[in-house]
Amino acid sequence: MQPSWPSIDRWLMGEAWIASRLADHVTVLCDQIGVRWAGTENEHKAAEYIAEQFDTVSLEDPAVEDFRLQTSECRSASIRVAGDHSWQADVRPSLFCPSIDIEAPLVDVGHGMPRELDSLSDRLAQSVALIRSEFEPFSDPIHLTLRLRDLAEREVVAAITASPHQGRRLTHVSSGDWRDGDPLAVPLPLLQTSREDASKLRTRVGNAGRVAIRVDAEFRTATSWNVLADLPGAMIEDECLLLSAHHDTTPDSFGANDNGTGVAVLLETARLLAGLSEAMDVRPGRAIRFVSFGAEEQGLQGSFAFVDRHFGPDPMPRLMMNLDELSVGNMKGVVLQFPELRELAQQQLDSMNEGLQCHVLSQVDASGDMFPFARRGIPASFLWRWRFAGRHEDAAFGHSSSDTPEKLRLRELKEYAAFLARLLLRLSHVPAEDWPENQLDVGTIAQRIEQERGAVFRVM
Ligand SMILES: [Zn+2]
Repeated sequence: MQPSWPSIDRWLMGEAWIASRLADHVTVLCDQIGVRWAGTENEHKAAEYIAEQFDTVSLEDPAVEDFRLQTSECRSASIRVAGDHSWQADVRPSLFCPSIDIEAPLVDVGHGMPRELDSLSDRLAQSVALIRSEFEPFSDPIHLTLRLRDLAEREVVAAITASPHQGRRLTHVSSGDWRDGDPLAVPLPLLQTSREDASKLRTRVGNAGRVAIRVDAEFRTATSWNVLADLPGAMIEDECLLLSAHHDTTPDSFGANDNGTGVAVLLETARLLAGLSEAMDVRPGRAIRFVSFGAEEQGLQGSFAFVDRHFGPDPMPRLMMNLDELSVGNMKGVVLQFPELRELAQQQLDSMNEGLQCHVLSQVDASGDMFPFARRGIPASFLWRWRFAGRHEDAAFGHSSSDTPEKLRLRELKEYAAFLARLLLRLSHVPAEDWPENQLDVGTIAQRIEQERGAVFRVM
């Protein structure tokens, strides 16, 4: 049976607009539950809520799957001028920053480029580097992880970097490169301070001054949770498409944009497609699996665990699509990690007549939950939005306590949910014989990732 697309599209768009539950999901996740650092009771509450919502819209077999998580908790941290207890700089240790308690000379290393470090070589051993995390504008950009590794090799014991934002706003940053596959591998202790206090430190400590740095962090294993449920296919057996988001946050973020939006749109897309079966008796051709990951913010540990657990006993999805930070601009289309499905995806987008485009990113992107799937040779994709088209001004609050719900544009998210439901339904109905065979080779992908390690993400 060939579905009648105009009436289906009309129902999905109308339902997405009029009966939206996006605001309820955002309120529960961000206001009622709040911070959802993976491995905590709050994260578990979010996982249970998502499973309950999957059940409410009658998806099949909603399940909360636990996995072991390597996590850390920063109990306290400080940056001071040595010997001066009257003032402390703003401080936020980076992800998996180890404990440290030292007094050492502070050396301003600029952007930490090789030329700068060479000129300071006799002063670097056993010092604390004050480093600018942004790219040095006059040379080929070098990934921050590589610059930090260079500091560690020159026996620098810790680094302080200024927040990219003004107004004493701090963000939770990662000093490692997730392409390395080991989130705990950090080059050296990295602490962020505010822009304002970085400049104060520079003046107060001066050229020969010393700083006192202390971080008390606990590393432990904990339990985190992935949630999944299925909308069965009516025609094509043993095949599925997968739509995902992550529900966890950084340690002090309410995670409205990152990633309450992704989870809310995931739930809403599930509701729309399940509702369509009820209202018009139109079901997906091949199954659609909905997944919410834990521990994305701690090195993608949830999606790594999910991929390890499910593939291969379960057949690999024909396509996975990941949702992250959606309230940052209109949807422009889809970005694939590999070119195999470009034509097929573009045909479906064209049939929606919304001017959406399919692109292929020429780098294997390790900044989100599509990475473990891509690594396993599963066609992975994400949405084309801010990284390629700029962000709303007030949406640049990721990984900070300012990522709050009042900044979200719910109408844009309604559009996302309706577009995704229409696109996934179309893709689910592409006959098995018209779907290009998966030619992706895990060995070749691993080689590519190895070659790209340390390379700068070209489009940020
Ligand atoms: Zn995110």
